Amino acid sequence: MILSFDAPEVRFAVQAAQLAASVVQRVQKDLAARALDKGDRSPVTVADFASQAVVAALLERAFPNDVLVAEEDAATLRTPQGEPLRTLVTRYVRQHFPLASGAQVLDWIDRGRGDPGERFWTLDPIDGTKGFLRGDQYAVALALVYRGRVEIGVLACPHLQEARMMHSSGPGTLALAVYGLGAWWSDMKGTLVWEPLQVSRQGDPSQARILRSFESGHTNADQVQALAEALGVTVEPVCLDSQAKYVLLAAGEGEIYVRLLSPQKPDYKEKIWDQAAGSLIIQEAGGQVTDLDGRPLNFRTGRSLTDNRGVVATNGVLHRAALEALRRIGA
Ligand code: AMP
Ligand code: MG
Repeated sequence: MILSFDAPEVRFAVQAAQLAASVVQRVQKDLAARALDKGDRSPVTVADFASQAVVAALLERAFPNDVLVAEEDAATLRTPQGEPLRTLVTRYVRQHFPLASGAQVLDWIDRGRGDPGERFWTLDPIDGTKGFLRGDQYAVALALVYRGRVEIGVLACPHLQEARMMHSSGPGTLALAVYGLGAWWSDMKGTLVWEPLQVSRQGDPSQARILRSFESGHTNADQVQALAEALGVTVEPVCLDSQAKYVLLAAGEGEIYVRLLSPQKPDYKEKIWDQAAGSLIIQEAGGQVTDLDGRPLNFRTGRSLTDNRGVVATNGVLHRAALEALRRIGA
């Protein structure tokens, strides 16, 4: 498949990620202050479902026969106990689809149960849920996979303000890659102005800026430290949630991003919606993505990357050095 920049698939992907991000931001504005006080997870749950519903609704309109493989399903919403949550989710979806019934919203969410086949879209309605709850980084991640190749990747990062990783009330960042054409980013609101993403040219391993998960349970923090030492890196790794890490790497704001296996879950297999969009954005920005053994990510193995172990993404120049250092430390 050779897509042009103005292909309907690209237009859909950008619009869907933008709409989902605005729904999620609305939920956060309405509910998050309460949740931060009480450790209540409901805002992220409402936002997750509403995000998935609006993407599925737009997909149904644009490509009615396309398959969606997404993180959530509506099973809990269909139970009697799920009624309050269902009502809340429906209210947010109706802000954009005023005629949608509750049943329609559940069906849209369940469109995400599709089987990954020859051509499918994969969605993480909120990647980095813990970041979302903390008011830190999170992303809406959407990708089109065709015959095992990621063709389009879009990441909407409402809290990523250009290259700065601070909390921000700015417009947020949208990143887009189309296979063979390149990768770009833009402010998320207003008229989109796409600027090319280009990885850093740093070739000295000791100068590498390392990116890792904020949640230590999603990686192996000791091994990240050992990797830094093996490369001669002295600056601390940058910790942030979600595929926003991929956007920073693609923008030249880091050189090495590793997902090491947490000692609690040494056999963890990455989900396709956590890696598809980000990995294309890196490749199209001139970087490289493999697993910890140097194997390409294989998106033909279903909902999880069962052929792969962890992930390492770099600016390309430092990929071999990163893999060698990972081997030396036994990661
Ligand atoms: P991050 O924000 O980069 O830490 O990644 C968030 C994603 O990590 C979530 O969407 C989860 O699907 C995924 N995840 C959950 N458990 C693990 C784990 N044990 N190891 C790696 N990733 C995980
Ligand atoms: Mg995720």
